[in-house]
Amino acid sequence: MRILITNDDGVYSPGLLALAEVARKFGEVRVFAPDVEMSSAAQSITASRPLSCKATLLPGVTAFRVNGTPSDCVMLGTSLWEKVDVVLSGINIGSNLGNAMWHSGTLAGARQAAMLGLRGIAFSAPSTEHAQPDFRLLKPWASTVLEALLKARELTLVNVNFPDKLPHGIQWTRQSVRHYDGKVVPAKDPMGRRHYWFTVIPVESTDEGTDRWAVEEGYVSMTPLSLDLTEHKQLEKVRKLETWEALSFH
Ligand code: MN
Repeated sequence: MRILITNDDGVYSPGLLALAEVARKFGEVRVFAPDVEMSSAAQSITASRPLSCKATLLPGVTAFRVNGTPSDCVMLGTSLWEKVDVVLSGINIGSNLGNAMWHSGTLAGARQAAMLGLRGIAFSAPSTEHAQPDFRLLKPWASTVLEALLKARELTLVNVNFPDKLPHGIQWTRQSVRHYDGKVVPAKDPMGRRHYWFTVIPVESTDEGTDRWAVEEGYVSMTPLSLDLTEHKQLEKVRKLETWEALSFH
């Protein structure tokens, strides 16, 4: 099995190395990852300039650094290395739960694989201002998850999130969409000029069965995703209308 590994924290992230070390047990591994941090790059690809792909040194794994986004890395990696079976992305330093999935470069790396007709699995772990994830503790859990997911060929895209403590189990979850946790924080630079930070605020309440709920309860969250953004219920309704514009607003 050929396993391509990417991330959005950059090729030298300890989370990527931890994932590569786990993945080696399951197949042939190569790393194609951004040369600098690309967090929140989402699904963007670089179309305005050419890309470079340079061999780099990571312990025990063939690795390349790309001056592009996670999606660029997967596009480039799968064209330079043929017959990739699955793309693993992460382990991200920071959760990718709920609506954050839209911004996540980690998930985008995995989703790029799904768009290419391959399989993708994204891994994220929470971090705080003071503490990064303990990848040594998470590695056995990443291994358990991979063992199950690599066999489940019908799952083409899965978003995996670890809790902030040692997990006590694994839960299948749905994406929580009730709250948006993004926020704009105004501040001033040293010259007194106004600038803005985009940041994340804690979400107060969570719904049972969601990704956010699972990690709060100390579980590893696994959310199967689809590429189809269509709102199927609405589509069914509007298709039943006599003419396409016969929407009722009263
Ligand atoms: Mn990141």
